[in-house]
Amino acid sequence: MLFTDGMANWSAEKVRKSQAAHGVAIIEVEDKAGKWEVVSPSRFARRITANTRTELSGPAAGHAMLKTAADPAGRVVMGTLNNCASGITPWGTYLTSEENFINYFSGGDQLTEHERRWGLRKGGAGYNWHQHDARFDATKNPNEPNRFGWIVEIDPRNPNATPIKRTAMGRGAHEGATVAVTKDNRAVVYMGEDSRFEYIYKFVSRDAIQPGGAAANSALLDHGTLYVAKFNSDGKGQWIALTHGQGPLTAANGFADQGEVLIKARQASDLLGATKMDRPEWIAVDKQGWVYTTLTNNSNRGADKQPGVDAANPRVNNTQGNIIRWKEDGDFHGTTFAWNHFVFAGDPSLDRADAKGNINGDMFSCPDGLWVDGRGLLWIQCDMSTGAMGKGDLKNFGNNMMLAADVNTGEVRRFLVGPAGCEITGATGTPDGKTMFINVQHPGEPSNELSDPKNPRAVSNWPDKKPNGRPRSATVVIRKADGGVIGT
Ligand code: CA
Ligand code: CA
Ligand code: CA
Repeated sequence: MLFTDGMANWSAEKVRKSQAAHGVAIIEVEDKAGKWEVVSPSRFARRITANTRTELSGPAAGHAMLKTAADPAGRVVMGTLNNCASGITPWGTYLTSEENFINYFSGGDQLTEHERRWGLRKGGAGYNWHQHDARFDATKNPNEPNRFGWIVEIDPRNPNATPIKRTAMGRGAHEGATVAVTKDNRAVVYMGEDSRFEYIYKFVSRDAIQPGGAAANSALLDHGTLYVAKFNSDGKGQWIALTHGQGPLTAANGFADQGEVLIKARQASDLLGATKMDRPEWIAVDKQGWVYTTLTNNSNRGADKQPGVDAANPRVNNTQGNIIRWKEDGDFHGTTFAWNHFVFAGDPSLDRADAKGNINGDMFSCPDGLWVDGRGLLWIQCDMSTGAMGKGDLKNFGNNMMLAADVNTGEVRRFLVGPAGCEITGATGTPDGKTMFINVQHPGEPSNELSDPKNPRAVSNWPDKKPNGRPRSATVVIRKADGGVIGT
């Protein structure tokens, strides 16, 4: 919990503290004679918060829909927020997403069609920044929400580099951005929107990646083609371009130019007939070119007035989640693909197959984080919501866990289980495969019950384990006792 007295005594100072606690942190760690330590001070260390200067680039930069009173040119945005999965580029930069950005904004009583499509609501989702910072009051600054929802490129090796919002890759409540490289060295960036009935995208760069790191590739993600995925029922699929002037993406349908197509990527995808997915989260690519996406859950699938099942999202009331995968025809830039379901999550003892359209699966639930390690193992991290944990369909799972899957056999094995009230998220490792880094996010949730450390409902004091201590999110370093390669 950020404030010992919770949301009481709400003030401009508390808003600034909350904004400073958002964004991205760059830290340096070092293996010092067998013990990993944070390097401090570090020439790389910095915080990029909800108030750090960032720049917009690409086709939507300077667009009328991105101009505000504070930024009449529509090219400079203060900050990034709700940053979710991690993405590393081959040229040494970091891609972060702006997932549930709309929750920070408050709309008016009358919402435009565009605002409704992006989930704006009066009062926002409880962050209450708009009460002391008019930037987040969309009745006063209606274009400010359009300046979030972008993939942000950060150069971690240059502490003076400005983070860049890359508009060519489209706007969305993206979970993350995962880069694959074509045989002719172009970058293909896969993105999913972690939101019910939203879409999976990929961006194909026009130009090839150049040697020379971030400086040599500073405009690579500004030029290229954005596509949205359509999964057909025959196990094939296609990527449909979000290109202005093609198909229905015309001025007559509300898209004046390419900038507007990118800002209104959801509306464009609606018109293009893309497949509405069950909350696509992380994306990972294996050694054989299969691209995996977790579809974490979607309990509204098939509910009244919601889309019913389709081949790619075959469960009514998908409380458990699944992992779908596809392989592009030709190369990563291909516009058609073959797909299948890699694994369905879910408690096999709740044998509810068929009658309700459920498909039983492996003994884990709500897959979210994905990472392919150097050996080709697929690591899966789970994010059952704390409120649903231990109840109903999730009653037999315990806490959120991390698993490893053999992509050739489909076998899935449990690797670790987190403390109470947490999500396990984010994984990376050293090139030798002997050290893994994972994150434990929001242990001890629900945090609003922990404002009083003596609260008997406090569920965790991980990792400090101090009596009456508050829980903290933390990175865990994992090594084998014998120092060998993890997963062997
Ligand atoms: Ca997410
Ligand atoms: Ca996630
Ligand atoms: Ca999640």
